[in-house]
Amino acid sequence: MRAPNEQACKEKELTERVSAFVRTHVMPHEPVLDAGGPAAAAALRKLQAGAKEAGLWALPLPEELGGQGLDLARYARLAEAEGASDHGPAALGSAPLLDATMLWRHGADRVRTLYPHRLTSGELRACYAMTDPETPGTDPYLTATRAVERADGGWTVSGRKWFTSHAAEADLVTVLARTDGQPGDRTGLSLLVVPTSAPGFRVVRELPVLGGAGQWEIEFDRVHVDADHLLGERGRALAIAAERLQLGRTLRCLRWLGQAQRAFDLMCERVNSRTGSRGPLGSHQLVQSHVFESLLALRTTRPLVHEAVAAIGAGRDAHVEVGLAKVAAARMLQQVTDAAIQIHGAAGLGPDTPLPALYRTGRTARILDGPDELHITGVARRVLRGYGT
Ligand SMILES: Cc1cc2nc3c(=O)[nH]c(=O)nc-3n(C[C@H](O)[C@H](O)[C@H](O)COP(=O)(O)OP(=O)(O)OC[C@H]3O[C@@H](n4cnc5c(N)ncnc54)[C@H](O)[C@@H]3O)c2cc1C
Repeated sequence: MRAPNEQACKEKELTERVSAFVRTHVMPHEPVLDAGGPAAAAALRKLQAGAKEAGLWALPLPEELGGQGLDLARYARLAEAEGASDHGPAALGSAPLLDATMLWRHGADRVRTLYPHRLTSGELRACYAMTDPETPGTDPYLTATRAVERADGGWTVSGRKWFTSHAAEADLVTVLARTDGQPGDRTGLSLLVVPTSAPGFRVVRELPVLGGAGQWEIEFDRVHVDADHLLGERGRALAIAAERLQLGRTLRCLRWLGQAQRAFDLMCERVNSRTGSRGPLGSHQLVQSHVFESLLALRTTRPLVHEAVAAIGAGRDAHVEVGLAKVAAARMLQQVTDAAIQIHGAAGLGPDTPLPALYRTGRTARILDGPDELHITGVARRVLRGYGT
């Protein structure tokens, strides 16, 4: 075993290498990657080859799947640097962490053999489809997508999903569908793994989000799915979804910290470099206030996110920690990117800085993976249970 100091030095060096890779290789390609399509796919493949060559590929993926096996606590220390660009996790092969581990933990033997290793290597890409267009995403019990059991034990899946991230490039989609019971029932929902090459699967349309690419509406028109492609226990999907979402939200929070730090750095550089006839921007107290409030938001959010990391890593019930971190990190990213745009003036809204894309992420952060309201009420209810009536 390594001495603690040696370990800390190694981790610091790894974080610096990740940060340098993201800054020098990923960030310059952001406009192409943001636009999506074949040019983005080609650019991503090139970046992925570079990350493999640099020994930075799939750092948090389990070793048994071909990853480098950093546990959550160690990965958390570099996830900010990797996530400073929205494309960092895909470029460095961390993006499949949720799908590969979900399929590995909850898949039948054939699913475990077919997919998790190939997701980890980057050969396959997966997406995750819970949200239906016609029913509230905040209320999965109402899911309208259905999977009907066939005589051979397999399933026929019918329905639509939307805002499924990266669905158009995916080889696999894990879809939430009702296998038993009626809309509104608390059980009877299952997760099924569907190859996107299956007859009846269709990408309906792209759904640009504030001008950004990557979200898709998809359709399942009587798609046949093998019996062994149902994940975990039939009708118990929401336990798997909750496990996935807890980790997923926490990873997003770490990446949002990285993006907010980037916006903060840009803001401070602008403050110091821009001068009017009354002196530099930084001499105005209202400008100083933006710097102060942004730093306060960053510094008060970071420990909350690391509390969530610690709770998940320890296998504790992390609902409160993750709920606090998710709401704080989403607000913080929106606040810091908004301040950075304000300080840049019109340039902050134009094409020459990454601020519009960072702001877009900040705004979407308050809705995706559960809107703020859901986390606020969920945390408050749990906390109140600890007090007498
Ligand atoms: C960029 C982006 C990427 C996404 N990626 C995916 C993906 O990959 N896979 C996927 O399945 N989904 C994805 N989504 C969908 C996302 O998970 C849903 O949008 C989210 O869960 C909210 O569901 P909804 O949009 O149906 O809103 P609704 O459920 O219709 O809620 C709308 C609003 O009503 C209010 N509200 C709802 N419930 C409550 C409540 N209990 N208390 C108080 N107020 C409430 C909130 O203000 C909420 O924003 C993505 C969304 C975005 C924007």
